[in-house]
Amino acid sequence: MKGLSGKTAVVTGAGSGIGRASAHRFAEEGANVVVADITEDGGRETVAQIEAAGGEATFAQVDVSDLDSVQRMVDVAVETYGGLDFAHNNAGILTDFAGVDDITEADWERIIDVNLKGVWTCMKAELPAMTEGNAIVNTASEAGLVGMGGLSSYAASKHGVVGLTKSAALEYAEKDIRINAIAPGPTKTNIQSSITGTGDSLLARAKSALELVRLAVRTLRADFDTSAMRDVPMNRIADPEEMAGAVAFLCSDDASYITGHTLPIDGGQAAD
Ligand code: NAD
Repeated sequence: MKGLSGKTAVVTGAGSGIGRASAHRFAEEGANVVVADITEDGGRETVAQIEAAGGEATFAQVDVSDLDSVQRMVDVAVETYGGLDFAHNNAGILTDFAGVDDITEADWERIIDVNLKGVWTCMKAELPAMTEGNAIVNTASEAGLVGMGGLSSYAASKHGVVGLTKSAALEYAEKDIRINAIAPGPTKTNIQSSITGTGDSLLARAKSALELVRLAVRTLRADFDTSAMRDVPMNRIADPEEMAGAVAFLCSDDASYITGHTLPIDGGQAAD
């Protein structure tokens, strides 16, 4: 893809799933990759995989909800590779299934801090290091485009990413720094492992609908693939590599007039 070779990309959440696939794709396109993740084992494994395939990568431990930590991640890119050209702000977590009146304040803040504030911290630290022709892609979600009962904090965080992306794109359009987002549909990753809590508060309150709620919690955790697939016109779950291809395209010169958009990559869900 045009314009990626010899450049430097930072990818957050690159120790697993979509971020790992994106880091691989940037490396395959000839970019230097800063593999950033809160989890050291996953991040270092991604670096080892890229190096084994002949690519160039370095690990930076980051908590995207912490601005100082994110600034250090950008410093790693600048100190190691001399600058920063592309960023895929992708780290995110899923929440326990809970109704609006059952979400705890701590859970609300955790989701918003990682999924929404975490995209802002990244752009705040990355943009001063970027120049004309550079590009950012944020990971939103299908839940950033439509409502999702039981996942309102997650949906709110992802709707926020869409609005943040549009607004930042307007601010940087004249400088020719393009900012877009992707909205993945259900994708084969480890995201269910980020769910904490038991859903017990919801179960306790919803005694009359106990079985229904249990089923919903179980579905979200254990049977994600099957339940998510039912709503996908293409009738399958995405591979993370199918997200990575779109990220590479949006950063490439082939997308030189595209900014402020959120691209659904969802097997047709958004069209339904
Ligand atoms: P994943 O759990 O496989 O990967 C997420 C990575 O982010 C993990 O390596 C994790 O350690 C890291 N991470 C978590 N909190 C972090 C923090 N505070 N700072 C830095 N890194 C952190 O999940 P994934 O599905 O690859 O998720 C990537 C993104 O895709 C998320 O933003 C998620 O909301 C979004 N998404 C996923 C799906 C899906 O079906 N998998 C659908 C839509 C959107």
